[in-house]
Amino acid sequence: MVDAFARRVDYIRVSVTDRCDFRCVYCMSENMHFLPKSDLLTLEELERLCAAFIARGVGKIRLTGGEPLVRRNVMQLFRGLSRHLGAGLNELTLTTNGAQLARFAGELADCGVRRINVSLDTLDAEKFRTITRWGDHARVMAGIDAAQKAGLRVKINCVALKGANDGEFLGLTEWAHGRGMEISFIEAMPLGEDAAQNIENFLPLDEVAAALSRKLTLTPSAFASGGPARYFDVSETGGRVGFITPLSHDFCDSCNRVRVTCTGMLYLCLGQEDKADLRAPLRASPDDAKLHAALDEAIFRKPRGHDFVAQKAGRMAPARRPMSLTGG
Ligand code: SAM
Ligand code: SF4
Repeated sequence: MVDAFARRVDYIRVSVTDRCDFRCVYCMSENMHFLPKSDLLTLEELERLCAAFIARGVGKIRLTGGEPLVRRNVMQLFRGLSRHLGAGLNELTLTTNGAQLARFAGELADCGVRRINVSLDTLDAEKFRTITRWGDHARVMAGIDAAQKAGLRVKINCVALKGANDGEFLGLTEWAHGRGMEISFIEAMPLGEDAAQNIENFLPLDEVAAALSRKLTLTPSAFASGGPARYFDVSETGGRVGFITPLSHDFCDSCNRVRVTCTGMLYLCLGQEDKADLRAPLRASPDDAKLHAALDEAIFRKPRGHDFVAQKAGRMAPARRPMSLTGG
């Protein structure tokens, strides 16, 4: 699938639920209203949708949410998709808050998952509770232990938040690298109902890089993911650190991904409202012809880039939907 700007789309992120067992302050309000379960695609429909993307050249699928591991029987979907590994699909992975990993790590490994992203913003249990509202730090740590024990490679994702986890970036990096894990820092994006607060807590990652550079030597890495992250090798630890900077650095020219929500809505850009309904063609007939046509038509409309900079400056309204709906 190639868009109007000659970008090949070969990576999809699929949000399998908008629900979550945490309420991170930058992602959800405490009293989130979730979609009625009847609006969600069934696991069979999600699998069929993913298979159509694979048939059109998608080689990497990341399941996300909300929290993907709270979707009932989600392992059925992992199992179904694992059958495509080596037959069109090169990588099946997920982004998780880690709270359910102790239960699922072994099964994920059995399904051919090799690498996972775990979100963790602090090593301090109390701060963790403040940021996630409902999260239990020890449980996430046990989840990370279980994942590593099951042979999964873990990458830590950490949102940099002014007044919350600043001061911890060096400690988090040394901790992650000490356990053989990569770490990426993410700028808070103005998404969802709490967009104003995200902007207030915004911390440019140049400040994170500066904090790390006081003790560590960062050299630009040859590694590139095709996404918004820039990577650096750290000589002292032998590890790698990523900076995901949608606000201060534009990544749109090399964007290779689109996002699908748990209701079958295809979002063509994280920061734009452009979307296509895939649920209707999916349900219109058991034959996938309509779905394939809808996919091609939509991909061609993929917008050139996001408007986060204008939104942060107050020149445009931020996207109303939270990250938990579109999937991070
Ligand atoms: N629940 C899973 C988790 O937390 O990893 C997967 C979904 S979560 C929406 C995916 C990623 O988005 C997490 O790393 C989270 O920290 C990040 N995220 C959520 N809201 C964000 C925001 N407003 N700005 C930047 N990152 C955000
Ligand atoms: Fe849940 Fe992930 Fe959003 Fe936190 S960031 S509330 S864990 S979906």
